[in-house]
Amino acid sequence: MERVAIFPGSFDPFTVGHESIVKRAIPLFDKIIIMIGYNSNKRSFFPVEKRETWIREVFKNEPKISVECHEGLTVDFCKKVNARYILRGLRTSADFEFERAIAQVNKMMHPQIESVFLLTMPEHTPVNSTIVRDIILHGGDASKFLPAALNMEDFKLKK
Ligand code: ADP
Repeated sequence: MERVAIFPGSFDPFTVGHESIVKRAIPLFDKIIIMIGYNSNKRSFFPVEKRETWIREVFKNEPKISVECHEGLTVDFCKKVNARYILRGLRTSADFEFERAIAQVNKMMHPQIESVFLLTMPEHTPVNSTIVRDIILHGGDASKFLPAALNMEDFKLKK
């Protein structure tokens, strides 16, 4: 049976931390679907279509990786695409507590699913989308925190 994993998140925006987790997981799975979760009632910083385009660009030469948008429960998306694994990254003990609850609830809702966690690379521990958004919002240089394949002009907000 094909080992299909999903990597769910809001990726607003997708950072070097996310990229590293996905790349390191490639040898573990036959297919990884990056699932951009969105809520049409909540405002995001970057439109979901842009986030999708950027992530596709990062992995355009990686046949095992695909990108999809989903509104709703992650376990429902797993059922839809026949994924048995949920990939997540762990930075801190706070991440662990948060991820533990989500993974255990997901397991209660869909017992066939296993959550798989990769520890962040030490240099990516402080990187999170909220801080990167703040840098962009205030006109700072966020290039260190964004995948190298992306055009940094896209992250300069027009004033
Ligand atoms: P969410 O909307 O669930 O907070 P995020 O886009 O922030 O989604 O993160 C998606 C996944 O990527 C989560 O498992 C998160 O812990 C992980 N992640 C985010 N930033 C990093 C990083 N710098 N290093 C490793 N994992 C990360």
